[in-house]
Amino acid sequence: MANSRKPRATSSRVPKSPAARVRPERPSQDEAEEAVRTLIRWAGDNPDREGLAGTPERVVRAYREFFRGYEQDPHAVLKRTFEETDGYDEMIVLKDMRFESHCEHHIAPIIGRAHIAYLPHHRVVGISKLARLLDCYAKRLQIQEKMTAQIANTLQEVLQPRGVAVVIDASHQCMTTRGVHKPNTSMVTSRMLGAFRTDPSTRREFLAIIGLPPSTVASSS
Ligand SMILES: [Zn+2]
Repeated sequence: MANSRKPRATSSRVPKSPAARVRPERPSQDEAEEAVRTLIRWAGDNPDREGLAGTPERVVRAYREFFRGYEQDPHAVLKRTFEETDGYDEMIVLKDMRFESHCEHHIAPIIGRAHIAYLPHHRVVGISKLARLLDCYAKRLQIQEKMTAQIANTLQEVLQPRGVAVVIDASHQCMTTRGVHKPNTSMVTSRMLGAFRTDPSTRREFLAIIGLPPSTVASSS
């Protein structure tokens, strides 16, 4: 039964455009579990031995959690905004949000912290929504640079604030546990839009709030 291969859509058919929502047909749970069994054999072990018997099912369930961002619409997350801000127009910063993602080159964990700030223009959004926005993009196959830009761009598009700043500081297990084996390295990426990009004092204030020296983040993003 597992050998009766159905034709499957391949990723090469998917257009590369970031706007494209088209995704290859989702394989069945059985197909996904079979793929895990193949990888176990590839690692050199026997998927039928007792200790591994439930592993394919658990891995597939874990994948649902690791990659649940594909089920979420980041624009919809931010849709509900509040306009009664009594003229509040100072910086709003959510700092030190831990996240877990997976690199799209090795499917290895990326673990880090994100700092998100914006300068409201009439509209604000509940702070839990910023955390959910982060997860929408983190729970996908990612590269850190793209994730940083996606979060900033979505906030800018939906809220249209006077500025957005996103800084992500993360360590990549594909670098720390394999390849070059550099255990204590982290990568910092940033995306500054609007006032955070054009006004050095706004940028400095943000970096001071999140505890980064201004030199960490270059003056343009
Ligand atoms: Zn990687």
